[in-house]
Amino acid sequence: MTNFENIAFSGKLKKAIKRIGYRKATEVQEKTIPLIIRGKNVVSKSFTGSGKTAAFGIALSERILQGKSNAVLVLCPTRELALQVSKEISQINASTGLKAIVVYGGHNMSDETAALRKRFDFLCATPGRLLDHISRRAFNPRMFDTVVLDEADRMLDMGFIADIKDILGKVRPDHTHLFSATLTGEVAKLIERHIPEFEEVLIHDEIVGINIFEKRVTFSGRDKFRHLLEILERNAGERVLVFVSTKRYADLLNSQLKDKGFKATSIHGGKSQKGREISLNNFKSGRKNILIATDVAARGLQIDDIECVVNYDRPRDADTYKHRIGRTGRMGKKGLAITFVPEDARSRDFWADEQPAFQRGQRRPGFRGRPSGGQRSGFRQPGRPQTGFHGNPLTRRRKSRPRKSSDVNDYIYRI
Ligand code: ADP
Ligand code: MG
Repeated sequence: MTNFENIAFSGKLKKAIKRIGYRKATEVQEKTIPLIIRGKNVVSKSFTGSGKTAAFGIALSERILQGKSNAVLVLCPTRELALQVSKEISQINASTGLKAIVVYGGHNMSDETAALRKRFDFLCATPGRLLDHISRRAFNPRMFDTVVLDEADRMLDMGFIADIKDILGKVRPDHTHLFSATLTGEVAKLIERHIPEFEEVLIHDEIVGINIFEKRVTFSGRDKFRHLLEILERNAGERVLVFVSTKRYADLLNSQLKDKGFKATSIHGGKSQKGREISLNNFKSGRKNILIATDVAARGLQIDDIECVVNYDRPRDADTYKHRIGRTGRMGKKGLAITFVPEDARSRDFWADEQPAFQRGQRRPGFRGRPSGGQRSGFRQPGRPQTGFHGNPLTRRRKSRPRKSSDVNDYIYRI
């Protein structure tokens, strides 16, 4: 981290940042703010919690204050993120007079239209709702000279590619900035087609870092829930985020924990926006101290002060693992990350993210204790499709499901 004083931007913004409580710039802020202020397009890969919002928020506020930019459109994947971003940009601009507004699906359309008619400098929006407003001619899309695609990978995961292209075609911005946890696949195509020249800023994952204590819990069959209860009792009253792999299982676990007297709530894509917001607010305010989440629902959300993250169901790949556990141990605090790993051999195939190398019934070496580097390489040989696993049947994946290639085992078995 570096001092904000070393980055050139207006004193008013610096004051507001001090008031928010940010003392040092994070790496992504240090590297992108000067580039964006200079008028470069920035494409940045950086992990959740690295401080991207303030990075583009500060830099683009500065450009508007310098008269180099008129208005900025920030596209966000979800309502929660759009709200979060507009709130942070408003805080940054507490004493500059710049205004941020927000539009998203589910919000009152006429209130939004009224806000769009007044003066504003930043519009934070989810893609679908923004297109609604454009088609109703609530504003001229050409008013924006700058577009930020925030959490681009997540927007593409959610199927917003056509909307994004449509929006970029209508806005035709002079500057486009993209922030994403990954810059591969669909995101790479989007960059190639829509961002002509850019500076790339890669922030390396510090997530699996010194502040997070990672732990593995081995379970067999029915013990899984009992282990979770033990963990929750041990961490009584602390804020715990529990990751599961399906919506259904999130609901089920939630009601099981409530039956046991825990203050639990859940967040997943099957819930209404309103329901998700209520769960999130209950968790943020401390009314509930256990949040059960699926990856899609939790990604990008800013939830601070989580003492413990539990990977109750397996993370799909190494990136997911890192993002999940990166919810704890933030900004210099200590965090605990606990990962559930099935005990028996066949279940362990489940953890071998690539196709397991061994035939059914054949004993594989390296199952006792931690696999060494050499043994672990045995996990990687290509060949057979994934075998079933003995977890909760509700979380079982289809065997034919294409698997993302990754090295999640390198993370799990390194613990
Ligand atoms: P990202 O979008 O990269 O996931 P956010 O912009 O949501 O991350 O920031 C994550 C958290 O870090 C937020 O709580 C934010 O208020 C805080 N934060 C951002 N910049 C700083 C900073 N320079 N110093 C301290 N905290 C910061
Ligand atoms: Mg963000």
